[in-house]
Amino acid sequence: MALTGIQILKMLPKTNCGDCSIPTCLAFAMKVAAGQVEIDACPHVSDEAKETIGEASAPPIRTIKMGSGDAEFTAGGETCLFRHEKRFENPTGIAVMVSTGDNEKTVDAKIERFNKLEYERVGVLMRADLIVVKDNDGNGDAFTGLTQKVLEKSPGAAVVLMTDSADNMKAAAAACGDRKPLLFGANADNWQAMGELAKEIGCPLGVQGKTLDDLVEISGNLVEAGHKDLVIDSGARTLRGAFEDNVVSRRSAIKEKFKPLGFPTITFPCEMTDDPMMEAMIASVLMAKYAGIVVLSDLQGEVLFPLLLEQLNIFTDPQRPMVVEEDIYPLGGPGEDSPVLITCNFSLTYFIVSGEIEGSKVPSWLLIKDTEGLSVLTAWAAGKFGADLIAQFVNKSGIGDKVKHRELIIPGYLATIKGELEEELPDWTITIGPREAGHLPAFLKEWQPA
Ligand code: SF4
Repeated sequence: MALTGIQILKMLPKTNCGDCSIPTCLAFAMKVAAGQVEIDACPHVSDEAKETIGEASAPPIRTIKMGSGDAEFTAGGETCLFRHEKRFENPTGIAVMVSTGDNEKTVDAKIERFNKLEYERVGVLMRADLIVVKDNDGNGDAFTGLTQKVLEKSPGAAVVLMTDSADNMKAAAAACGDRKPLLFGANADNWQAMGELAKEIGCPLGVQGKTLDDLVEISGNLVEAGHKDLVIDSGARTLRGAFEDNVVSRRSAIKEKFKPLGFPTITFPCEMTDDPMMEAMIASVLMAKYAGIVVLSDLQGEVLFPLLLEQLNIFTDPQRPMVVEEDIYPLGGPGEDSPVLITCNFSLTYFIVSGEIEGSKVPSWLLIKDTEGLSVLTAWAAGKFGADLIAQFVNKSGIGDKVKHRELIIPGYLATIKGELEEELPDWTITIGPREAGHLPAFLKEWQPA
């Protein structure tokens, strides 16, 4: 049962010392209750209170970490059924499976694509997160050997070890050292041995049922035995089955606080079809409906890129626009005679405008004004991109020290503020730039300081 801010406040020291970077204990308690800060941010709270509050304020889908360092991957932490209710917290992990049944060339090619395929979009570097190493035939040496190869060749991958043999799991996990793999393989027959191993080496444990009911039983046993870090698979290997099980699991965990299903899910589109396009389609559906991890048979750009874009769309916070920092951005090595442009700090605007400027090959200074993530016209209409604020920013930005001329190019949509801006910035000539970013290259190529 979630605690209220007042209940949490009663367990805090109430000294209002501010060491948590929040001025009062009451404000801190309210933020903890709203899930906006962790109780650990208060260094003075007792261990007992920490445990009570931590448990009570934990998200209904537990946050599970696997991998380490740069290869750490986080799943779960979800608190709602629908993105617009709050936000989805941790993007679905995209994994590729390599198996001891694959020949060496296939394994090498899959690992190479995992390492190579990455894309930058609105300032975010997007790539696959995990490699699943599957023990295809119970050969422990081959499984450990393949695990070592993946660890060595893909330092950026979080690793999932997939076998139902506790002995094979132990040997492969030992080869992982501190890479903290997800041990995927607790089933009705081996859950005690797998559970003990996971506890012993401090790794999260994957649980696989034959059906959702079977999963609930195994997961329930593990929860009762004190296991907290689980990732669950209902065993469904059809789109409809996996979709239904994901929805039932999420609803049970969030609406009913049903602990055995309160964990991120791992799903296997790679085992649902042999058609790569159908596999991508299944992965995209499961990503939209609660999959913590989707496992693909291979990574190809035409499959991975759209999935990454879908991931980006679903897991951005709908209540907070993506922004870049207010600053002067030098593009293409500008000098003292280079043009100076200004726009808002909505990420998409920044990346489109900067992309067109870079594409023009005209070195330029791009001033980014903080408009709280609003686009040009919306920011202007909301009073966050008016002539007075632009003038204040230009004066304090230091751009005057970087260029000899005094000409500022404003977005075409702000043409109406030209006169007002000239009054606010009497030393500057205000030039109206194009309305559309796509017209910037032609505009810049012809630009000469006024
Ligand atoms: S650090 Fe702890 S005691 Fe200090 S203000 Fe924050 S919540 Fe209160």
